[in-house]
Amino acid sequence: MEYSGKVALVTGASSGIGAATARKLAAEGLIVGLAARRAERLEALVADIARAGGRAVALQTDVTDLGSCKAAVQTLVEQFGRLDVLVNNAGVMPLSDVDSLKVAEWQRMVDVNISGVFNATAAALPQMIAQHSGHIFNMSSIAGRKVFKGLAVYCATKAAITAFSDGLRMEVGPKHAIRVTCIQPGAVKSELYEQITDADYRKQMDDLAASMTFLEGEDIAESILFALKSPERMDVAELFVLPTEQG
Ligand code: NDP
Repeated sequence: MEYSGKVALVTGASSGIGAATARKLAAEGLIVGLAARRAERLEALVADIARAGGRAVALQTDVTDLGSCKAAVQTLVEQFGRLDVLVNNAGVMPLSDVDSLKVAEWQRMVDVNISGVFNATAAALPQMIAQHSGHIFNMSSIAGRKVFKGLAVYCATKAAITAFSDGLRMEVGPKHAIRVTCIQPGAVKSELYEQITDADYRKQMDDLAASMTFLEGEDIAESILFALKSPERMDVAELFVLPTEQG
């Protein structure tokens, strides 16, 4: 297989888009490090991937902690000698209006959605630079391209990831042959909406889900594979992937 012996780290691999991406990468022959906090979910996914003929390792990780991200990368490099792909996917979206002052939820979005991406990138870059190769995927969102009511803080975090991705790409592409792809999904079926504590916004998301067919995690995983499989000379810098029915 083309990717046999190559190694990936997927953050937020315990559910949704991250779990689907881990499965797809493993099916392509990559050894996949599964990073998230819920260890039992990760172990179950390791077993699933093994049953399907792939290889994965569970790496209990909190992306808000730089040391935790470094430990995950170190484990992969010690065991498998390299790191080829980083999927910065971990994210949270507890929606609310700003005047609800759910300040702890804002901070959690900043910590996971922004600092988490910075931390995992900082942990992965030295190995990729040493290899003079690599591909970093950053999970932004349609919310990184336009602002929606109730999503002010979430949109701010995803706009930050779009900006960071482009700046990172400009630096590490020419200098270190590392590609950077910013993924901007529309609505995807996952557990993301379950953390919304504001009853009105929770209902709004349930109504949205009832009104159209959301994307599946696998659809975003396919988009990641498309960018990964493109020729080395080509960097798919951005992918804006929407449900057909999402206006
Ligand atoms: P899920 O809620 O299913 O997945 C979120 C993942 O993030 C979980 O695996 C969770 O694992 C992980 N995570 C949360 N906090 C941390 C942390 N501190 N450290 C490590 N991992 C953490 O949602 P999705 O699959 O939908 O979301 C994946 C990404 O896609 C997010 O960045 C989201 O913003 C983005 N996105 C989603 C869209 C959608 O409509 N679903 C649309 C556009 C973008 P655990 O709790 O085990 O740590």
